[in-house]
Amino acid sequence: MLQSAPLIWFYGVRPGLFQAIFPVYLVGEEPAADQFVMALTEEQRVIRPGSRIEENLRRYLIGMTRHRLHQPVFASQVMAAYGTRCAVCSLGHRELFDAAHIIPDSQLRGEAVIGNGIALCKIHHAAYDRHILGIRPELVVEIHHRLLDEIDGPMLRHGLQDHHAQSLMTVPAARADRPDSDRLAERYDQFRAA
Ligand SMILES: [Zn+2]
Repeated sequence: MLQSAPLIWFYGVRPGLFQAIFPVYLVGEEPAADQFVMALTEEQRVIRPGSRIEENLRRYLIGMTRHRLHQPVFASQVMAAYGTRCAVCSLGHRELFDAAHIIPDSQLRGEAVIGNGIALCKIHHAAYDRHILGIRPELVVEIHHRLLDEIDGPMLRHGLQDHHAQSLMTVPAARADRPDSDRLAERYDQFRAA
């Protein structure tokens, strides 16, 4: 901390699995609570812990913490829970895979927590975000009716239409890692209204 040295923080995602966050800096000590104050950005390094800051800056710093810490940890948790496979089609290529939010992170209940996460490949993530694909709270896929009767190539048929009314192909083994049914229900209502 005194040398302002950049550090790597190995954030525990689950036993034996860590997300490396770097660079981070120690900017304060709280010996009574047995903890340190960590800065994740240059801006956070220059602000004294506990000092009053302007509202816009505070929001910016929270946004940066989300980007630097919460999102990578969330992505690791979702990847581990689904074994890096798409929940809808089971595609298992890391490069084509996203940790998707059920409630978008721009919304109030859109926290980066495992219950708000679902592993989706790029195409199913985009389809979910555009309300082309919905997921019922009981983990059954629905394809929007405007696409169901359309005739097109194999991607539409196998990639989307064939999943209609089918259960998710990949669901985390641990109940605690599965998506929250109330968040799924809220998102499913938006899909139904689209
Ligand atoms: Zn998929």
